[in-house]
Amino acid sequence: MRRMRSAMKFDIRVLVWASAALVACQSTPNSSAEQASRAGERVSERVMEAGPAPISPVDFPVSGRVDYQARPSRMIVFIGDGMGHAAVTAASYAQSEPLAMLGMPHVGFMTTHEHEFLTTDSAAGATAIATGHKTHFEGVSVRPGTGPELERDPEHQLSTLFGAAASAGRATGLVATSRITHATPAAFAAHRSNRGQYEDIALDYLSYKPAVMLGAGTRFFAERSDKRDLFAEFESEGYTVATSAEEVRAAVPGEGPLIGLMHRSDMPSASSGERAMSLEEMVKVAVDVLERESPQGYVLMVEGSQIDWAGHDLDGPGVVSETLDMDRAVAYALGYARERTDTLVVVTADHETGGMSVLDPPYASRYMMLLGGEERAYRMTLPEGYDVAAHEDPLPPSVVHQALPKVGRFGPVEAEDPRMTTSFGFMSVGSRAFWDGSRRYSASHTAVMVPIFAEGPAAADVVAARDNAQLGETLKRLASAPDDEAARRPGSAGPEPRPKNVILMVGDGLGLASLSAGLYSRGALATLSMETRALMATHALDRLVNDSAGSATAIATGRRSRVGVVGMAPATVGGDLLPVRSALAEAALKGKRTGIVTTTSLTHATPAAFFAHRASRSQEAAIAGDFLTFGQRLGRSHGVDVAIGGGARYFRTSHLDALRAQEYAVSTELPEVLASGQPHLVLLGDEGLPPAAKRSAEAPGAPTLAAMTDRALNYLREDERGFFLVVEGGQIDWALHGLDRGEGLLAEIADFDAAVALALTFASESGDTLVIATSDHDHTLSVLDNHYGYHSGHCGVMKACGGTFEGITLPVAAEGLVNAQGFTASELQGDFGAPTMTLQYDWIVQEVARRVQMGGPHSANMVPLFASGPRAGELGRIRDQPQLGQWLTRWASGH
Ligand SMILES: [Zn+2]
Ligand SMILES: [Zn+2]
Repeated sequence: MRRMRSAMKFDIRVLVWASAALVACQSTPNSSAEQASRAGERVSERVMEAGPAPISPVDFPVSGRVDYQARPSRMIVFIGDGMGHAAVTAASYAQSEPLAMLGMPHVGFMTTHEHEFLTTDSAAGATAIATGHKTHFEGVSVRPGTGPELERDPEHQLSTLFGAAASAGRATGLVATSRITHATPAAFAAHRSNRGQYEDIALDYLSYKPAVMLGAGTRFFAERSDKRDLFAEFESEGYTVATSAEEVRAAVPGEGPLIGLMHRSDMPSASSGERAMSLEEMVKVAVDVLERESPQGYVLMVEGSQIDWAGHDLDGPGVVSETLDMDRAVAYALGYARERTDTLVVVTADHETGGMSVLDPPYASRYMMLLGGEERAYRMTLPEGYDVAAHEDPLPPSVVHQALPKVGRFGPVEAEDPRMTTSFGFMSVGSRAFWDGSRRYSASHTAVMVPIFAEGPAAADVVAARDNAQLGETLKRLASAPDDEAARRPGSAGPEPRPKNVILMVGDGLGLASLSAGLYSRGALATLSMETRALMATHALDRLVNDSAGSATAIATGRRSRVGVVGMAPATVGGDLLPVRSALAEAALKGKRTGIVTTTSLTHATPAAFFAHRASRSQEAAIAGDFLTFGQRLGRSHGVDVAIGGGARYFRTSHLDALRAQEYAVSTELPEVLASGQPHLVLLGDEGLPPAAKRSAEAPGAPTLAAMTDRALNYLREDERGFFLVVEGGQIDWALHGLDRGEGLLAEIADFDAAVALALTFASESGDTLVIATSDHDHTLSVLDNHYGYHSGHCGVMKACGGTFEGITLPVAAEGLVNAQGFTASELQGDFGAPTMTLQYDWIVQEVARRVQMGGPHSANMVPLFASGPRAGELGRIRDQPQLGQWLTRWASGH
């Protein structure tokens, strides 16, 4: 391996010059540049009306049902073990159709830390969801620190969701694709100090008596070290015992509880085709038995167990097939629930596994090339002397291109290479080469927040959880509530008034992992306090992985476009680019004030998409010209009312003279007050502003984003007709491109979040302002801690585990974090100490960066969207970026 690396050096230097420009944010596909510049000349001739696009976005089937009951009597809780937002994204693209879970109307995000560490295992994660309390690493529904000697003591057991359901007279059920005694199901119906006590966990099921248990693991019942025959004992308790799919099916019309375990240890993988029964059918059987046994209601827990296992194996296609397998079961449950008024369906995860990202071949291949090609890159992740041919089931490549269905409703319909690339985090992949083979190789879990989807009675309460233990509290409360006929009523309170003002905050490159890192470093984020949440796709027409121009165009205009294109889109697949009117233009035409604030250049892709029409984002001087002609094109005396940002070098003297002729006050420092009665252009620097760490609220030449937002709001608020303000935290993206793993990135996130906090304060005072915070695209960041991966020695590439890579250790701010009291539990942390955080990027990216100066790529991971204020609920139904642009356009034009 060492030899290969040094031999590669020369090639790498040559390649880097060729590739760097392509990989950088500014990349523009040559194919559309020519046709686009032709179209660019037609700017003044023809501007497409904004509105529903003839191609893309897909019409997402988000359920519009009204919930007729305040409390559910039936509850189906899905846990996708290890299912992060990248798994949801990858599985959706793999079938060219958004997952059924994305059609559930309520979305949330929650932290998953355990009692004493940042990154959880499945037992502590499931315990939080099952009991509403945190526990120690590998603990199963016992109080933190409970050892084997005290686990039988009821004082040390945490009461569970299943206990709450039973006390309200409801039956319970467990379905998993693993052994039924595995960590996740165990937390709902067992109390043990360690998840490895499979035989003890089976005994606990005898006392909990779930009405139905389906999955695998006969050996923990019939081949026990204590020689007990638990199947016989379950039978004497009235259970039907089934050990094959036929027997399970035959038991459905019978009576009494059912235990159906169809494999000796675990079920084979979803892709093997050897599962005795699909998860979907198991859910159907479980629901049938529960309805029969408990007409008054039930709680069913369903685990997609093996998403996590595929993640541990660094097997992207495995993550996809297991996620799709669970989603088919979710689709069944939703179909069932939608015919009733009393059923709540919840889909979530216990944690993310592997730091997975969704890339595309054009991006991934450049990095792989710098590592010597796919084959060599794969070999770099294998232990010395590992012979692939000698293994029946060799270690899978961590970077895999997967074909996307050619004619898809959902995906890059114009892509020349219609494939998706799945890839994993640096520590997990890089450490495999150091693996000694003594145990199965296992990638690390991460501490990135996971999504929650909910539909049915009380669904809005469910997604209000900010942490997995809060989710557990809510579920327990709902399960123990008595069925209340009087509570059956429509949940909708009629249409909300339209917001007068909209503040759109765009964190460039800000994904769920960046938000997680920001949260753990600062203890709280205003962005995460916003009540409405959604998850949206960001792909371009021609690329799965979008850039800021294509994605900002989607947000600004409601039309999906191509990478590198600003404010233009084709009307048909493969068609010429045409200028599209933005929501900001629409707002200006309707007499609203408009504003743009950014920490990058005002001619940069994101702000530009709101006022310019250019085939290539690199035409920044022309974009400055478009700023000048924006008002004229709208038939008004001037364009944007207030613009604050960098980019002075793109505004020529003649531009500035012409702007002054439009009555613009042009300044190079941020004034204390922007005089009313005239438009303002504030140019703070030649290109972007200095990084957040070097700016302050008091520095007029280099202010914080919050100070800039404050000035803009004070100016805009003076008009009764309302305003539309776009605020971009532009340098989060730059820090991520620079593979910043420390305070540089965290300062940018905090700078953006402080501006969001300011906007929220303004909105709560004004009462008629909607605040939206979102991102244009994700990167490949993920969040690790100082324990998970280290406890099992699966961190070989890191210095702490004998490797050469120095992680940057970041403090975790337990103050303010929800349910983080245990972070000071030093007696449980041992030598690992209190939680700290380490940030990592995708392996191929960080591995290349170790050799040559090269930035990181964007990813296609779905991004979070937050909204707060009038009609925020409507934003919660957005699943695709152009839908946001369409909503903004409808609002701007007065609907
Ligand atoms: Zn970027
Ligand atoms: Zn795991």
